[in-house]
Amino acid sequence: MVFTLPAPHVQLTDLPTEPTRNSANPIPTDIATTPTASSILSSALNEVKIPENRTHYELNLTLNYYTHYGIVEEIITYTNRSTRAFEELLLSIPPKNYPGSFTLQSLSDADGNSITNWREEGINLYVPLAQPLQPNQTTSLRLNFRLDFPTVEGTFGVSGRQTNLMNWYPYIPPYDETEGWITHPQQVVNNMVVGEYVVNEVADFDVTLKLTDREELIEVAASAPAEETNGVRSYHLELARGFAFSISDSYFEHEIVQDGVRIHSYVFMEAQDAGEAVTEIAAQALKLFGELYYPYPREMLTIVAADFLHNMEMDGMVMISYGVFDFYNDTPKTNLTILTPHEVSHQWFYSLVGNDQAKEPWLDEALATYHEVLFYQRYHPDLVQWWWDNRVSGFAPQGNVNSDIYIAGGYEAYRNAVYLHGAMFLQEIRDAVGDEAFFAALKDYAINNAYQIATSEDFFDSIAKFSTVNLESIRGQYFVD
Ligand SMILES: [Zn+2]
Repeated sequence: MVFTLPAPHVQLTDLPTEPTRNSANPIPTDIATTPTASSILSSALNEVKIPENRTHYELNLTLNYYTHYGIVEEIITYTNRSTRAFEELLLSIPPKNYPGSFTLQSLSDADGNSITNWREEGINLYVPLAQPLQPNQTTSLRLNFRLDFPTVEGTFGVSGRQTNLMNWYPYIPPYDETEGWITHPQQVVNNMVVGEYVVNEVADFDVTLKLTDREELIEVAASAPAEETNGVRSYHLELARGFAFSISDSYFEHEIVQDGVRIHSYVFMEAQDAGEAVTEIAAQALKLFGELYYPYPREMLTIVAADFLHNMEMDGMVMISYGVFDFYNDTPKTNLTILTPHEVSHQWFYSLVGNDQAKEPWLDEALATYHEVLFYQRYHPDLVQWWWDNRVSGFAPQGNVNSDIYIAGGYEAYRNAVYLHGAMFLQEIRDAVGDEAFFAALKDYAINNAYQIATSEDFFDSIAKFSTVNLESIRGQYFVD
C-alpha cells in the first residue's frame, strides 16, 4: 500500500527517547488455549479452500532497460466461474493510466482470430467473444503490446535508479454475481496517488524476462525466484494476485534463509548495512505472523529499496522507500523497524487474504498498521508506547475507518482514517473482547478467507465466533454504515 512517510520521518530525533509509560501487552504465544477456540481453529485450518480453475497468465517480456520500453506477449487462460454466460470479457489495463505507455499491437481469441471490435472505457477494454463463454467453460486471449515506461517515481515506471513493473499487464478482474466486474478508477489528488484501486483474484503466473542491454550490469528483483537459461529468466508463481519486477543496475544484495524461506534484499549503495538489517527484521516478522496465522507459503520474500518516497506491498515482494533505508539508525527506534513488519504483514492481509482495496482498504491497511505494534509487542515491548505516540497519537487521527480511497481530503485524510484511526479501532476491539478471542478471531479470519476476497462482514463474523461482546458502540464510533 502506498504509504507516505509520516511527516517526521527524517527526524526521529525529535521523538521522546524513553517511553513515558510501559503499556506493552506481550502477544500471547499460545493464542488458542480454550477447547472451544482451538477446536474451531483446527477445523478451520482444514477448510482453507484453494480456488480451482484459476486464471493463468503467461507473460513473456523483452525489456530494454536503458531505453525504457518493453515488448510483451501475454496469453490469458480464463474459466468462467460465474453462473451466467459471458458474451464479453473485461480486460483492465493499468498502464493506460499513463498516457502513451500502453500500445496494443494485437489481440486474438482462442482460435487465433483477431479481435478488433472491442469497446473501451477508461482503462478497461470490453472484449466481445465469438461464442458466449458458458459457466465452467475455459477460453484464452492472446495479446501483444508495447510498454513505454513513464518517468514516474512509483511502482510503474522509470526513476533515476530503477524500473518498476507492478500492475503492468492487462488482467481480468473478479466477477461478482450482483456487482459485475470489479474495477475502480485510480484516485489521484494533487498529483498523489491515494491508495490502491486494483482488485485481483488469485491466479497463476508463468513469466519470462529477457533483457536486451548490458545484461551483466542489471539485477532483477521479482515476486518469485528465477531460473535462468540462455539469458532468459523464467518464473513460476501460483495463487498470487499479481507478478511484479523491480530492475536496476545499482542494487546491492543480501540474503538470509529462515525456515526454508529465502529473504532477499536489494538496496542502493549507501544503504548496504540497512539492507542486511532489513532481512533480519523481515525474518522476525515472518516468524511472528507465521505463528499467529499460518506459515508464509512462498519460497522467497523479496525486499527492494524503492527509489521513491512511499512503500508498497506486492505478492512475494515489498518495496520500502530509500528514505527509510537511508535513515536507518541501527536501533529499533526507526522507520525501518516500523515499516518492514507493516509491509511483510501484507503478505497475509492483501496477498493471501484479499480485499477490495479501493472500497474497503481498512481490511489490509488498518491490519498492516496494527501489525507494526504487534511486532513491537513481541520484540521490543519497551517501545510500544513510543510507537503509539509517534506513529498514531501524534497525528490525532480521525475519520471513518471504513472510508474508501475516494475520501475527501486525499492522502492525509485517507491515511489518518484508514491506517491510524484503524489501528486505534483494532486496539479497542482487542481491549473489548480480550486477547484470546481477538487473536483467535484474526486467525480464523485469515484462514477462512485465504485466497478469497474478504469483506468487513467476514471480519466481524470471525470476531463474533469468539466473543459475544457487543461491538456496536465501537463500530458506531469508528465506522459509518
Ligand atoms: Zn500498507
